[in-house]
Amino acid sequence: MTPKLDPRIAGLIAADDGLWRDFNDICDCGGRLSGTASEKKAFALLRERVRAASPANAGRSIPVPYNGWRAKSATLRLPDGAMAACHPLVRTIATAKEGLTAEVVDLGRGTPEEFAEHASDIKGRIVLVRHELMFAAGTIHRRRKYDMARASGAVGFLIAGPLAGHVVAGSSGRDTGPGLPALGIAPETAARLARRAEGWPTATMTVETEEGPAETETLVYEYPGTTDEWIVLSAHVDGHDLAESAMDNGSGLASVLAVTRALSSEVARWRRGLRVMFFSVEEWALTGSAQYVQALSEAERAKIALNVNLDSVAGSPHLAALSSGYGGVEPFLLQVAAANGQSLRTVRPLMTNSDHANFAAGGIPAIRLVAGFDDPTAHLRVVLTPADTRDKVAQGELRQATLLTAALVAAACNADTAEAARWRIR
Ligand SMILES: [Zn+2]
Repeated sequence: MTPKLDPRIAGLIAADDGLWRDFNDICDCGGRLSGTASEKKAFALLRERVRAASPANAGRSIPVPYNGWRAKSATLRLPDGAMAACHPLVRTIATAKEGLTAEVVDLGRGTPEEFAEHASDIKGRIVLVRHELMFAAGTIHRRRKYDMARASGAVGFLIAGPLAGHVVAGSSGRDTGPGLPALGIAPETAARLARRAEGWPTATMTVETEEGPAETETLVYEYPGTTDEWIVLSAHVDGHDLAESAMDNGSGLASVLAVTRALSSEVARWRRGLRVMFFSVEEWALTGSAQYVQALSEAERAKIALNVNLDSVAGSPHLAALSSGYGGVEPFLLQVAAANGQSLRTVRPLMTNSDHANFAAGGIPAIRLVAGFDDPTAHLRVVLTPADTRDKVAQGELRQATLLTAALVAAACNADTAEAARWRIR
């Protein structure tokens, strides 16, 4: 294995003006919520940019049917009658027309211990919890809190974001059928819902939604190597409709495009091919990648040597590789980073927070590159809020992440079979 990226390729990436242009153009598409014109615009842009990079490769579109959902309105009335800003969580159920009026029980962070200690307080009430820094060990995902609230008999779900003045978005994790009305709110709104001497505060939620069958796509571009093995480089297209989803995942998309530009004409000489994939409905439960991996035969899975998934790769200069339980891939990742003068940390446990998780669960070695892991001061803390805007991303960070990605992909495409066999060791 030659872990150092060919200086000529590194030079191409260092000088590629398209990286920053693409990042800004992707942000200009808007937040890219699945099912919106903004998402479609982003897919059209990606097609155009890949075509410019490799005109002979038309790519392939895999249809992705899913349960469509749209919020038409959402409101939250506080105990004093004031209306507070709120954001409907993806796939929240609707309330009755007159809304849902109930007492609010604040469970703080919303740990299993807090749910257990308040078991007798929750039934018939709206549960209030806090959104946590996603890229940290020990994080309790919003979906788990939502599920605990449902299991405990709550009638509504509120989650407070980390950033004063800003609501928070996210998915409830519900697919179809019963659920809870669920809203993201700002931290100061949560403060106004604290328990008082007079009792639990009462709030009214209203949510109006539309649901029905929908379809999006997964875009695939294959650049074959000299064998029938593949390295899959992926990023998700969709985001949330409260800003421009710049870090999550405009950064990953722009990096994948730049790596494709730099490597697509090289791969034919390499052992493994490069399969570039753009997934959607990731924010809704990793739907696009779940369908893709489920549809692969055992033989096809065995031919994918590694999935390198880019999700939120700028917003901090510190990069981590989440190795999804595949400890055998970590020495390779660290060697490539070191040979290219980059610092990288590896984090072992499988985190089901992006598309790599479906590859890993399907028996395919898979990593997620992410910036700002475990750093509460990194810009990544505002992902899923309206503050996930392009000003949080430094051009140099995005370029570093892109260079590291290109180095990892090139080395993975060229690694010998003994090396690649080690990646499958958990
Ligand atoms: Zn993401």
